[in-house]
Amino acid sequence: MARSCACKTCGKTIRPKAKEMSLGSAVRIHYWREHPEIMRGKPARKIKTRAKTA
Ligand SMILES: [Zn+2]
Repeated sequence: MARSCACKTCGKTIRPKAKEMSLGSAVRIHYWREHPEIMRGKPARKIKTRAKTA
């Protein structure tokens, strides 16, 4: 399982901070912090993440 991915919006690398945190949770936290307008504006739309092979 990939442990990091690139944000589709800003291109930043997202990594879960805690071992028990899933990548999906880390992406959601990133979006709420960096792109709240996207989280609020498109609630029905799923955020797609691109797994990174590093
Ligand atoms: Zn971002």
